[in-house]
Amino acid sequence: MDIRKIDRILQETAYVRTGGSKEERRCAEYLQAQCAELGLAARIEEFEVDAFDLHGAELLADGRPVPCKGYYGCGSAEVEAPLYYLRNEDSYSLQQCRGKVVLCEGHMKYWIYRDLLEHGALGFITYDGNANYADEDIDQRELRSYVHKGDRLPGVNINAKQAIAMIRDGAQTVKLCVSQGEETKANSCNVILDLPGEVDETIVLTAHYDSTSLSTGSYDNMSGSIGLLAMAEHFSKVPHRFGLRFIWCGSEERGLLGAKAYTEAHADELEKIVLNVNLDMIGSIMGQFLACCSAEEKLVHYISYFAAMEGFGIRAYQDVYSSDSTPFADKGVPALSFARIAPNNTATIHNRYDTPAVMSAVQTERDIAFITAFVAAMANAKCCPVAREIPEAVKEKLDIYNFRKRPKK
Ligand SMILES: [Zn+2]
Repeated sequence: MDIRKIDRILQETAYVRTGGSKEERRCAEYLQAQCAELGLAARIEEFEVDAFDLHGAELLADGRPVPCKGYYGCGSAEVEAPLYYLRNEDSYSLQQCRGKVVLCEGHMKYWIYRDLLEHGALGFITYDGNANYADEDIDQRELRSYVHKGDRLPGVNINAKQAIAMIRDGAQTVKLCVSQGEETKANSCNVILDLPGEVDETIVLTAHYDSTSLSTGSYDNMSGSIGLLAMAEHFSKVPHRFGLRFIWCGSEERGLLGAKAYTEAHADELEKIVLNVNLDMIGSIMGQFLACCSAEEKLVHYISYFAAMEGFGIRAYQDVYSSDSTPFADKGVPALSFARIAPNNTATIHNRYDTPAVMSAVQTERDIAFITAFVAAMANAKCCPVAREIPEAVKEKLDIYNFRKRPKK
């Protein structure tokens, strides 16, 4: 794909497209149309996601209003209680949560939420954004169903500047009020394209195309979606032994929901997948290239050697990547994610600054060329050399990633 087309697609898709929204659907149809332009028939496969009807949220700190957004899925409640800032997660700190509204760092993560419930917290506040940025944006967060499991605490998200002000000014009492209607369901979708090979085993190529609530998602992850389009074009014109299935995944940002839905709906086909190659964030102006392999160590070495032979800088390692490769690995499919990770002070994600401005079409083209060469080598193998088993060390990381096992503190 030439750089003009890369730039054009980045411009044409620079809009917010959260999982389950009509904008996400619009982007799915856009990708389908891009395939059609190449003479390729992609199909849209829908899956259900939770949908919310948030009426409003209010936060008062010692009577002073603090701008906030209520958590989707946290129910409706009004609570007035002392504020407690949970700086650490040791048992002393956790014991201080009882009867309080708790300010937590970063995201509302699974184990912290379980801790808050267990220690009698009455509500929670998270914060994001950056105190050094000019904006006072607040991301729309969701208390995911696999986090609350029916036990809901009212919660709001605020900007980092407001969190700092509350702690600096010694806020004592907060009043927190969230109001939302019945939860319903909405449709999100995966866009799927098949390029059959000579054998019925397949390599599955994935990249998510949804974004978070403030982000136009150019870097995360229209870049990877463009990578899939470029490979679809390439492999539609050249023979390949293994079949290739391309999946542009929806609702990744809501918890890898598209890849999870796919692996559930296509459980009986998973044994035919020899490898999953996922692209999540490539082509940034700055940053290093990674290959994170949820597969045997030999694949890590192979990718390092392959990249050296191609003259392409890389850091390959074995781990679990927080992206659509993980549901595949969790079902026993060897999987890897490619990414170019920019330093935080050059490009950030999940905020208004993830725009085409952080992208390099030239670098995107180079990254795609490397990934295409790797996939071509695998797709033309006489026998897929990657062992179809997930090493114990990766299985343990999958258990932790999927909250089946708590990491050691
Ligand atoms: Zn992403």
